[in-house]
Amino acid sequence: MLSEPWKRKLIYLTPSGALSKVTRPTSLGAEIVVLGRKLYQSKTMNPSYLWLQKIQGEVRTDELMSDHTSLRIGGPADVFILPKDIADLQTILKNKGTAPLFFLGEGTNLLARDSGIRGIVVSLKEGFKTVSRPLFYKSIDGKEKAVIKVQAGVKLSYLAKYAARYSLTGIEHLVGIPGSLGGAWTMNAGAEGVDIGQVTRSITRLTTRGEIEKLKRDQLIFNYRKTQFPAGHGLLIEGEIELEKGDAVEIQNTMDEHLAKRSSRQPLTVPNSGSVFKNPEGDTAGRLIESAGLKGKTIGSAGVSIKHANFIVNKGGAKATDVLKLIRLIKEEVKEKTGVELELELVVAGE
Ligand SMILES: Cc1cc2nc3c(=O)[nH]c(=O)nc-3n(C[C@H](O)[C@H](O)[C@H](O)COP(=O)(O)OP(=O)(O)OC[C@H]3O[C@@H](n4cnc5c(N)ncnc54)[C@H](O)[C@@H]3O)c2cc1C
Repeated sequence: MLSEPWKRKLIYLTPSGALSKVTRPTSLGAEIVVLGRKLYQSKTMNPSYLWLQKIQGEVRTDELMSDHTSLRIGGPADVFILPKDIADLQTILKNKGTAPLFFLGEGTNLLARDSGIRGIVVSLKEGFKTVSRPLFYKSIDGKEKAVIKVQAGVKLSYLAKYAARYSLTGIEHLVGIPGSLGGAWTMNAGAEGVDIGQVTRSITRLTTRGEIEKLKRDQLIFNYRKTQFPAGHGLLIEGEIELEKGDAVEIQNTMDEHLAKRSSRQPLTVPNSGSVFKNPEGDTAGRLIESAGLKGKTIGSAGVSIKHANFIVNKGGAKATDVLKLIRLIKEEVKEKTGVELELELVVAGE
């Protein structure tokens, strides 16, 4: 077996006399010009991928999404990039052509389909991990407050513990939520009546036109598990969190209680993606699913958790199609037995 770089070299080096032009519908939408006999053709040979060499961060091809989702499910992404900095992001936007972009956080609220994600998956989890020291100030009402600037690749749980080190209160209830700030801002992640939107002062994003925009909180609408951004979403790169000075012991106790509650109620030892459905007004999706008799229901290797009925777990080797079939079944049964139409919280990505 020839290695990929050798296969690519052969394409250019094999003499055939005539210039053959092969057009192939790739996700990057470019034409493949092959000088020589066509020996082997795959997306890694598309010359338009050459710009990827300008990326300072990491570039991988055919990267399995199952390695990047908490459910451990998902086929390959055509191109997977871990940009180092904003310059890398701008290179991507400048060169991607018509290739679709998908922004990945920690993949903790994500179902990636079995055939993977076409185009480019961008993850900030390596290069965008800076948290500033809190900037303390006194508000007009005399309260001691602080602003922390945090990049989108930072984990929400880490930020909650970091804030606690400075006795800052406001996000201690979010400590057990896995995932990055980028994902938390997109989903307006929250627990126990507190959500990230309540403490967010601004979010900075890179638009698909390559512009960096700082959005103040009054330009954002933080709904239940969904944030609305003006004129589309873009890639969230950093934001400012505003917290209040509190009592260090109280903050720590809240975090400890919260983590203990989570591990007693959630199936944290098996791959899962958190709550699959949003809680309907005045009720919980978990209670409805349980009342429809679906706790423990399994399709393929995907099952409704025994510990928490709004969690679907991967019992080992589950496929995205198993999860999707289970989701459909749950929606149908709950609708039939309770009349409630459950709405998906989980993000489904890919083909
Ligand atoms: C065990 C467990 C418990 C959980 N408990 C809770 C809970 O209590 N409350 C709660 O709200 N959620 C919970 N979740 C769900 C999940 O952790 C949150 O929704 C989290 O905020 C998702 O972050 P992520 O980085 O993993 O995002 P992903 O799952 O990677 O992505 C989610 C969405 O955000 C987008 N996105 C991610 N980063 C960016 C970015 N930088 N720019 C633009 N778009 C981006 C993605 O495209 C996708 O649409 C839980 C999940 C698990 C596995």
